[in-house]
Parts: sequence; structure tokens; C-alpha cells
Amino acid sequence: MATVKNCLHCEKPIHGRSDKRFCSPGCKNAWNAARRRATRSVTEQVDGILHRNREILAMLMGEKTTKMEVDRLVLDRAGFNFKYITGIYTNSQGKLYHYVYDFAWMEFSKQVVMIVRK
Ligand SMILES: [Zn+2]
Repeated sequence: MATVKNCLHCEKPIHGRSDKRFCSPGCKNAWNAARRRATRSVTEQVDGILHRNREILAMLMGEKTTKMEVDRLVLDRAGFNFKYITGIYTNSQGKLYHYVYDFAWMEFSKQVVMIVRK
């Protein structure tokens, strides 16, 4: 007995070839569009956090400086999210740098964070 498959989008039974996943091209397009939207909302959320992190570092650093120390609280209060980085790097002294695009931060001490512009 053949098993009846249901459309991934509208869940109606599918007739025809057994490898079909959708009842119609319309359902296939709608399902793919919904999946793209879901992906975009996740990536936009993460992009937003990373962009804000970079803006905070850029704002603190200003135009002229390329290296500065800042109290961790200042970053916290500005809404900096330490969990979101674009890369990681350990320098020759074993210091761990967390990249946020063209900036990087390093935990200098429990309280002090070193910010550098790359
Ligand atoms: Zn369908």
C-alpha cells in the first residue's frame, strides 16, 4: 500500500510522484519564501547586535585614538554585548582579542577592557 505524503506547506495530500514534497509550485514557492524570511530574521538580529557593538566601540574610541582602556561598566551601560564577536585572536603574549569587525577588545583585568582599532 502506498503511503500518502502531505504537502510541506499546506499539508494537503500529494498526488503523483512519491518524491514530491509539495502539492503545487505555489506551495513550494510559499514554503521557500517563509524559510528565507525565518533565516533573514535570525541573521538580521545578530547583525544588529554586531553593528551596535561596533558603533559603541567606534564612539568610545573617537577619530584619533587606536588603543584605549575602558571600564567594563561603560561598555555594559552602553549596551555592549560581549557574547557577539566576528572573530578571535591570541597575540604572541597569549592575550585573547575579540574582534568586532575592524575593532577588537581584550579583557585587561576583571574591570578594565582594552579596545584597539585594527
Ligand atoms: Zn500545498
